[in-house]
Amino acid sequence: MAALHLRIADNLAKVRQQIADAAQRSGRELAEVTLVAVTKYVDAEVARALLDAGCRDLGESRPQELWRKADALADAAPRWHFIGHLQRNKVRRTVPHISLLHACDSRRLLDELESVAGETDTEVRALIEVNISGDTSKHGFQPSEMPEVVRSLPGYRRVHVYGLMGMASLTGTLDDARRDFERLRLLRDQLLDMAPEKIELNELSMGMSNDFEVAIEEGATMVRVGSALFEGLDV
Ligand SMILES: *Cc1c(COP(=O)(O)O)cnc(C)c1O
Repeated sequence: MAALHLRIADNLAKVRQQIADAAQRSGRELAEVTLVAVTKYVDAEVARALLDAGCRDLGESRPQELWRKADALADAAPRWHFIGHLQRNKVRRTVPHISLLHACDSRRLLDELESVAGETDTEVRALIEVNISGDTSKHGFQPSEMPEVVRSLPGYRRVHVYGLMGMASLTGTLDDARRDFERLRLLRDQLLDMAPEKIELNELSMGMSNDFEVAIEEGATMVRVGSALFEGLDV
């Protein structure tokens, strides 16, 4: 137990230092970058060690796993980020747990979120996932679809979109990742130029264990880091 806590605190400190260094290199404020600790590989006990070490933002990519951990850790009240593909039939049970949905990847999901939020009298905070790498296996809107998506956002009264999410190609080099992240930032800037009034796209969720430093240099405001936080653990 103590060993687990020490290891997690140590890994967390290392990742935080790398985040701080990347922010400094690119002349950005550390406060602009939120670390989302992705707990999908570990059980609730390990996730709790992260909370104890001061990491409040946790991410999961599967609904059932999120529900289970949200129950187990309810007393510690983490801010849950849902970072995976969310099927429409899981929306109703997932939305009450999460503070941000990172991967809004279809019109039908946006519509379902709006409808469930209306029925349950809540609001949903979301990012739109864009397929920046062109991997056909990836979810997300094509960049070319985004102007129309952004124009439609004021029609969603209960779904509040704060920015974009993207993933680098799984097979690419770090330079490829940098280009993918730059593409997402430039797309965001273009979209802002034509966005309806009151639409803000400040958040850029990009970067994972292998490429989060590059992502921060390219403007990430949220990095989703899993494996780097669990190094040296038997998970
Ligand atoms: C698993 C996952 C991560 C974290 O990946 P690591 O490489 O372990 O840091 C980030 N984002 C998404 C969408 C994921 O599914």
